Amino acid sequence: MIEAKASYYQCRFCDKVFMNQGLLQSHIQCCHPADSHLAEYKTRVQADKLQNETDMLKELTKSQLEAAQHAHAVRFSKEYEMQKTKEEEFLKLFDR
Ligand SMILES: [Zn+2]
Repeated sequence: MIEAKASYYQCRFCDKVFMNQGLLQSHIQCCHPADSHLAEYKTRVQADKLQNETDMLKELTKSQLEAAQHAHAVRFSKEYEMQKTKEEEFLKLFDR
């Protein structure tokens, strides 16, 4: 019974089983065309994303990392000073 079961091809998208892969593929194309395309698309996107992230990690050197952190710190301090200036201007209105 186990041997017979092993020769079945189960559909990924429903509970139907088929005697061979050709029947399974035609069933998927017939009954789940959107699902099969979506599954393929998702797999491809995930593979691309993973590849991109791996490349980014390779390309990101230590100095680039420090530069990015510095840029962030500069932006943050500029925002802080802008906020401070606004507060000072606001206080000046009452200082007359
Ligand atoms: Zn199915």
